[in-house]
Amino acid sequence: MYEYVGNIHIHSHYSDGSGSINQIAEAAQQVGLDFIIVTDHFTLAGKKEEGYHHGVLVLVGMEINAECNHYLALNIDEEVPNHDHHPQAVIDQVREQGGLGFFAHPVEKGSRLYKRGRIYPWTDWNVTGFTGLEIWNYLSQWRDGVTSLKKALKLTLVNPHQALVGPYPEVLKRWDRMLKKRLVVAIGGSDAHAVTVKLGLTRLVIDDYSMVFRCINTHVLTPAPLSGNFLSDEQEIYHSLSRGRCFVAYDYFQPARGFRFYAEDGREQYQMGDVVPWSQRLALHSKTPSDVLVHLIRDGSLCATSSGRGHVFIDLIPGIYRLEVFHPYRRGVRPWIFSNPIRVK
Ligand SMILES: [Zn+2]
Ligand SMILES: [Zn+2]
Repeated sequence: MYEYVGNIHIHSHYSDGSGSINQIAEAAQQVGLDFIIVTDHFTLAGKKEEGYHHGVLVLVGMEINAECNHYLALNIDEEVPNHDHHPQAVIDQVREQGGLGFFAHPVEKGSRLYKRGRIYPWTDWNVTGFTGLEIWNYLSQWRDGVTSLKKALKLTLVNPHQALVGPYPEVLKRWDRMLKKRLVVAIGGSDAHAVTVKLGLTRLVIDDYSMVFRCINTHVLTPAPLSGNFLSDEQEIYHSLSRGRCFVAYDYFQPARGFRFYAEDGREQYQMGDVVPWSQRLALHSKTPSDVLVHLIRDGSLCATSSGRGHVFIDLIPGIYRLEVFHPYRRGVRPWIFSNPIRVK
């Protein structure tokens, strides 16, 4: 499999972000990203600029809805209007175009210093027909971490990563529950705007493009290398994303390039997103770029752990398996990689 590292959920000057698509692509190139997906609010205006910029594959979707139920729509050609309180209508219209759709920042806690605690959560969990959800959103969780002005200054000037504590357990629990019915794909988002934000009495830029492009990324695996042809590469990335052949990683402290999670039964190799027939010889394998702690989650519960760089899990029973990876940080560990699931049937 070939790995491409991308940053998803970016705002440009076509909505409330500060950068042009060309500037954003340049920032992505400087930190070594392979692709980016720009999702401006309520518009596909950036679509005319899709293509390779500075060697980075630039894809353009949109973010639909304003008050709540923010939905990232990718691989669509027609703008979909907001239906804030009827997200199923939005999901259906994206699907009718053959698009992919993801819940954006489904769980937010809010900060009283930011618009007096205003949040934009997902409210209707009974919808169907979507591709997946953003399990980890940089800007949303950063804001949630701003519990005081002192904390805001610390998170801006000293260590912004302190706020990024990992996907919220509520989101993972919802995701695990949805996985019981079908494949629901997890992605990570940055929600980068690179604008000055008012926090209490202070004004700060908290999500500079080149900074957040090094944090929560989505790594996509494709069966063939990208060709450099925009149209075929676009479809290759969207195809892998829709099948769950991807993982979410916080790349800042340690780039996660090289992580793999697959199943083998002695005859075939299966990837994340696949449904695998159970057999006695079936084993789950993982490779991590450095010595880490790996949690194997089955049907939403921790079922095994492993440490080191190579990880093999045998004696499997049917279930939905995914990995959570933690790397050493100071005296403890930090959440690093979240795989998509492999379903053993
Ligand atoms: Zn949003
Ligand atoms: Zn957004």
